[in-house]
Amino acid sequence: MAVFVVLLGGPGAGKGTQAKLLVDELGIPQVSTGDLFRQHLQADTDLGRLARTYMERGELVPDRVTIEMVRERFAQSDCASGALLDGFPRTIAQAEGLEIMLAAIGQRVAVVPFIRVSPAVLLERLSGRWTCRQCSSMYHVLHNPPLAPGVCDRCAGELYQRTDDSPETAKRRIDVYWEQTAPLVEWYRGKGQLAEIDGEQPIEAVSRAMLSAVCAAISRGER
Ligand code: AMP
Repeated sequence: MAVFVVLLGGPGAGKGTQAKLLVDELGIPQVSTGDLFRQHLQADTDLGRLARTYMERGELVPDRVTIEMVRERFAQSDCASGALLDGFPRTIAQAEGLEIMLAAIGQRVAVVPFIRVSPAVLLERLSGRWTCRQCSSMYHVLHNPPLAPGVCDRCAGELYQRTDDSPETAKRRIDVYWEQTAPLVEWYRGKGQLAEIDGEQPIEAVSRAMLSAVCAAISRGER
């Protein structure tokens, strides 16, 4: 049985960190639209060049191209077991696109863990964030430092600060989140798919809460 999980939460809420911990437990791949756009950017594709203009400003890449990129990702064989969606959907139109895409393969979203973090904490987390160039694991200078400065614990890759984590762009990303993505919380709640999680607990406590929400949804789906 395939399992599709949507991780919801503001930029800096911990979606990427939690997704990396959950993929190992669930055996389904993490599909991060931010990572996919950054890969396109690095490879200097047409999509990468288009995405750059939005990403640099902290704005969202248009829905149509984003949905198309996810559709292509789902066609890869590892997604036959499902996916842990990190950073997608970010608008109601994307959520509707996702429903249509999944319905076409006889699937639906199993559960939507919403990692709730206050706006002040989001900004503070983004501005101290370091990301691995190789595996995109995330660290925080104060709350989750790597064992050796500048080196990823997971893969020994080089850590860097994303340009869109600069205070000005981070602030815009958080504003865009409130305007365009936050309405998805009520949208998914209305469908009975939301599982609210306190994202200001320690990382391990958030993981435990997420895992139990996902396992509960899987066993509900099997009944
Ligand atoms: P993230 O790594 O998820 O914080 O995403 C970084 C940037 O990529 C965002 O600020 C957007 O510019 C773009 N992006 C990522 N996911 C999406 C999406 N689902 N829809 C539109 N733009 C996105």
